[in-house]
Amino acid sequence: MDVTEIIGTLNPAQREAVTSADSHLLVLAGAGSGKTRALVHRISWLVEVEQVSPFSILAVTFTNKAAREMRQRIERLLGVPVGGMWVGTFHGLAHRLLQTHNRDAGLPDNFQILDSDDQTRVIKRLYQALDIDDSRWPVKQTQWFINAQKDEGLRARHLQASQDPFHRTMHRLYAAYEESCERGGMVDFGELLLRAHELWLNKPELLQHYQQRFRHILVDEFQDTNSVQYAWLRVLAGKDSRVTVVGDDDQSIYGWRGARIENILNFNCDFPDVKTVRLEQNYRSTQNILQAANAVIAKNGDRLGKNLWTEGPDGEPISLYAAFNEQDEARFITEQAKQWANKGNRWSDIGVLYRSNAQSRVLEDALIRAQLPYRIYGGHKFYERMEIRNALAYLRLLTNRQDDAAFERVINTPTRGIGEKSALTLRQLARDEGMSLWHAAEKAVAEKLFPSRAATAINGFLQLVDGLQQEVEGLPLHEQVEAMLQRTDLMAFHGREKGERGQARKENLAELVSACREFSAEDPERPALPQFLSEAMLNAGERQADSDQDAIQLMTLHSAKGLEFPLVFMAGMEENLFPHRMSGDEPGRLEEERRLAYVGVTRAMEKLFLSFAECRQLYGKDNYNAVSRFVRDIPAELVEEVRLSNQVRRPTSYAGGSSALFSDQGSGTGFDLGQRVMHNIFGEGTILNFEGNGPQARVQVNFDSEGSKWLVLSFAKLEPV
Ligand code: ATP
Ligand code: MG
Repeated sequence: MDVTEIIGTLNPAQREAVTSADSHLLVLAGAGSGKTRALVHRISWLVEVEQVSPFSILAVTFTNKAAREMRQRIERLLGVPVGGMWVGTFHGLAHRLLQTHNRDAGLPDNFQILDSDDQTRVIKRLYQALDIDDSRWPVKQTQWFINAQKDEGLRARHLQASQDPFHRTMHRLYAAYEESCERGGMVDFGELLLRAHELWLNKPELLQHYQQRFRHILVDEFQDTNSVQYAWLRVLAGKDSRVTVVGDDDQSIYGWRGARIENILNFNCDFPDVKTVRLEQNYRSTQNILQAANAVIAKNGDRLGKNLWTEGPDGEPISLYAAFNEQDEARFITEQAKQWANKGNRWSDIGVLYRSNAQSRVLEDALIRAQLPYRIYGGHKFYERMEIRNALAYLRLLTNRQDDAAFERVINTPTRGIGEKSALTLRQLARDEGMSLWHAAEKAVAEKLFPSRAATAINGFLQLVDGLQQEVEGLPLHEQVEAMLQRTDLMAFHGREKGERGQARKENLAELVSACREFSAEDPERPALPQFLSEAMLNAGERQADSDQDAIQLMTLHSAKGLEFPLVFMAGMEENLFPHRMSGDEPGRLEEERRLAYVGVTRAMEKLFLSFAECRQLYGKDNYNAVSRFVRDIPAELVEEVRLSNQVRRPTSYAGGSSALFSDQGSGTGFDLGQRVMHNIFGEGTILNFEGNGPQARVQVNFDSEGSKWLVLSFAKLEPV
């Protein structure tokens, strides 16, 4: 590996950043201009040319995924592993420090990390203990308050006493929360950062040790650091470390979580002799995509101002799809993704981005139906959780004793003294005799193939499942599940798990019961349980691609920061969804939403699809929103409206944000898109799409209670409502 390889592929400005001998460096540049690339190359430069030991380098990025990639890219450039180098997120690095020095940080050996859900539950319990009314002071608000204080480095004892009832209550809750976490050895995300910072302040000898070690500190996505992170960094850097930060003020999207764009401006004052490098050439996106991004962000005031350009081709226009509703949108995306892959492209080159997590379910459903591989970043899926999978396994056994996977999963869950040895014997017997594990177990018990203790345990399990089936027969679905959770002891078993996790698992199991209560079977004549199970299994993780499998990438716009995809879909481009409806409330929030739109658009390399739904069901409600202002901000000459298939035509509708009017009739069927119709079994619904002609003509109807179905028109006997 030689030096030309490190700098050979860089433009002059990038080269200046990579090879800078200045003590401090700020790289301020727009999306896709090679900031991350410059950072990676700089680290390689330091090691290779300046002969800096990897051991004395600390690199910080925004996500764990980015950290992994950064390490890989450095190692590829250098050709050797760089194990001693610290590469991670602020949270990850803080965690590492606290684990190494837990005594000094005042934490027990195995301190427990609270995620956001855990945190909510701890706070809820305090409401009961302190007799505080959660209708007056919503729990979420308290959680925000506490986190915001921590992001600013403030503990409860630092807050001024106040007469204001809101402030007084929050103060009291914060103090109680701190005490409760302290007692339980629990550390939330904000606490990780704050403690790591306090570690510097309280233990000067430790600080000195790390100051001497980390002579080079490099930070990517610097625009999204919050006050504590910045303070931690400054203290660590001390007088002697060299600090490189790279960022883009236009991509600051975590203000709602305490990030401070001002850190970019402060950096110049807080550190002496900062050299600033600006990168303006974009290497990622086509001309059209870049122009669209520039137009969107231009509406924000108060920018540091950058002018991005590219030598690349104009590329294809940006495509806009006006969907009738969210299902139509999901189907459109699926269809386009398929077409793109059919041209020989990889699935993983496709990014589907959305504003809020709740949008993913419909997209997932469509992808599952189309049998396309996909993967969701961040946030686990409900049906993937351990306790839910255990519960489903019992239910599967109830409906089908031959289900070996289910059998294996729960034969000893909750623990009932059936060890690995017995399980092995059962597996062997099943294989030899060509029978299911269930039958093997029955046979083994009947023929006394096990020592008596194991035999009793296995027999107990068989009796339990058989007995349960008799018990629940004829009960409504949710009562069946409730009975199962009690009789198998699964609820209590998971509830016994230590701390917040146990509580969370119990709540999830309760959520499963309510999912069953809400479930409406497709065929009311057949038993509900198997129908529910097949739907749940379709939704479960089995269908989600493994991390190394080639798969479409689904994620929120926030998680897409720093990434790039040849093909990008931005779904749900509607007012009140994006910009988010909360963004009107607080000053600065709308600007942040706009930056998020800029982040989204600049993820696309070759092709960008924007879509919006005329009507969207979200959180159980129908919403009719105008097309997002961010779409309208893109110059019309860059945009083309697309149609899914030529059977469906609709007038140009997006300009000015007016609602589309569906006036075209579907293939001479006598019905219109969007028309309300009545079906004698499925009830009322709305026409979504048409397909085919004559006697084969089919129509897709989204029924209010039954969901979307394709029907053959000549049989369906639809009546206009
Ligand atoms: P973001 O703001 O989204 O984080 P960024 O500024 O960090 O973007 P990079 O991800 O580093 O940009 O680079 C964007 C793309 O441009 C990458 O695919 C990268 O490999 C490519 N690129 C950057 N610089 C060059 C260059 N000098 N020559 C060729 N390709 C480059
Ligand atoms: Mg980057």
